[in-house]
Amino acid sequence: MVEDGIRWSIGNGDKVKIWCDKWIPNPETYKVLTPINPLMYNEKVSTLIDKERAMWKFELINSIFLPHEASTILAIPLSSTLPEDRKVWSGTANGVFSVRSAYHGILPTKTKLKDCKIPMEVECDLCEGVEIVGHTFWSCDFAVAVWQMANVKAPGLMANPPNFMDLFWCVMEAKPAQDLEALATTAWFLWNNRNAVRHGETSRIALQIFEASRLYLAEFQTHCSSSNAHQSHVPTLWRPPPLRWYKTNVDVAAFKEQGQYGIGVVVRNDKGQIMGALSKTLPYPLGALDAEAKATEIGIIFSWELGLREIILEGDSQIVMKAIVNHEPGPI
Ligand SMILES: [Zn+2]
Repeated sequence: MVEDGIRWSIGNGDKVKIWCDKWIPNPETYKVLTPINPLMYNEKVSTLIDKERAMWKFELINSIFLPHEASTILAIPLSSTLPEDRKVWSGTANGVFSVRSAYHGILPTKTKLKDCKIPMEVECDLCEGVEIVGHTFWSCDFAVAVWQMANVKAPGLMANPPNFMDLFWCVMEAKPAQDLEALATTAWFLWNNRNAVRHGETSRIALQIFEASRLYLAEFQTHCSSSNAHQSHVPTLWRPPPLRWYKTNVDVAAFKEQGQYGIGVVVRNDKGQIMGALSKTLPYPLGALDAEAKATEIGIIFSWELGLREIILEGDSQIVMKAIVNHEPGPI
């Protein structure tokens, strides 16, 4: 019974056979319906993936599969980090699990490690542990100390959450409600600290991470409320996207003293639930419009990497939004 609901969630396609295994997101069989191509009898799904670009091989797929099946395959999200294929249980009524499975492997740890050509399992610089995915944000002794100060709890979270989104989900669902902005900011500081140490700097102490993220968040929130006050003539009510669509909101804040722009991206579903959030800094020499455009680009890529395709984009800069919608060249 349980086995019936099990199918593959494609990562790099190395483990999954095209014609024998269940991996197509059609709820009837989860198997390829296109008649088998005898030359490709034993081929794996990885044959269909351009690993350099982490994209489906569009032309190959269109030449092998029936049109409807080709488009179904091309719509399967691929993570840019091409993690291992995973078995997933697709028999949940609320679909939460399948939404989560789209998130697999987006954690920056993997991306960073892959980019730097560092082996996937390395000793943690901050504790005695091994830095597998999820360690920096949660199970590291250092992170544990910071989360204790921040009073963030994630009951039911596994010791090494496979990615940051699992942590985010768990905290989001925890009762009583927890401060997700604080969570995202603190996680970002943990990540920066980890990178700084990796590049030879001394680690900050847990209290510094806790206080720096509080300060940063407070400044960000002050900016948000003051800029809302300036725009009080514009209704800023957030409306959910249509059913099964996602809305990506992008915002930019200037921090003149630090010489940086802070950008924030929040992706929500049609129920207003957060699918992902991201914050980042950009150097200040960028013009305000450049920063808006850059933030928008980051928002689009982020939504794409979450595996979401039906996206409505919302941002403050009308010039940037118009340029995207009408393919108008920018004023630069
Ligand atoms: Zn550690």
